[in-house]
Amino acid sequence: MTQRNVMYCWHCKNRTSFKEFVHTEAEQIEDVEYDHDHDQSGELLPTRRLKTTWHFLYCETCSAPSVLMVTEWCALHLDEDREGCDEVSREVVYPTPNHASAPTAQMPEDVVQDFKEAGAVLALSPLARAAILRLALQKLCVHLGQSGKDINKDIGALVKEGHKPSIQRALDIVRVIGNEAVHPGSLDLRDDQETALALFRLLNLIVEKMIAIPTQIDTLYKTLPKEKLTGIENRDHST
Ligand SMILES: [Zn+2]
Repeated sequence: MTQRNVMYCWHCKNRTSFKEFVHTEAEQIEDVEYDHDHDQSGELLPTRRLKTTWHFLYCETCSAPSVLMVTEWCALHLDEDREGCDEVSREVVYPTPNHASAPTAQMPEDVVQDFKEAGAVLALSPLARAAILRLALQKLCVHLGQSGKDINKDIGALVKEGHKPSIQRALDIVRVIGNEAVHPGSLDLRDDQETALALFRLLNLIVEKMIAIPTQIDTLYKTLPKEKLTGIENRDHST
């Protein structure tokens, strides 16, 4: 591993460079691949072994520590043509990124539960978090007056209500990425912390735009003097 890595910092929320101060590695004895060609003693030769390395890094922007876990298949016979290691996964295991994004204040309680659960598996299973966030969106659609049974149709109905294209796109991003997590798709979500974080932000944004802001406007509107409200209503019904 190179001395410098550029990745997302869950502490200062920057994509920035990290420096390694130490690393430690472990080879999994049980995860060994064998060559089907026998050696002279008639035994199978191990060819690759799964290796996990924990890199202890610090952020060069905020100096806070992070731990990066890298898993690789490594060849045991480097003199042969299959040299070096093939990376299987690379994930930040500390800090647990569920602290990175908190649900916005107006998020309905059942959606908050899923939002937090997706946060808890954020570092461990990128596929699970995308699938759970899609479920959260499905529940959110119910709060937005839709059936919650078919997200695609629900989004279509919300678009017909005249919401901005940016909201429709935000809804579709969470839906499509969630679908990719549940069904075999064309997106590789396994090593994509930034998309993961963006999904949490998008869900918050949808709640802000579709629940929090309309509620605030409603509350302020009701504080207008009664005669002004009557005047507004008369104007709007006079055409
Ligand atoms: Zn940082």
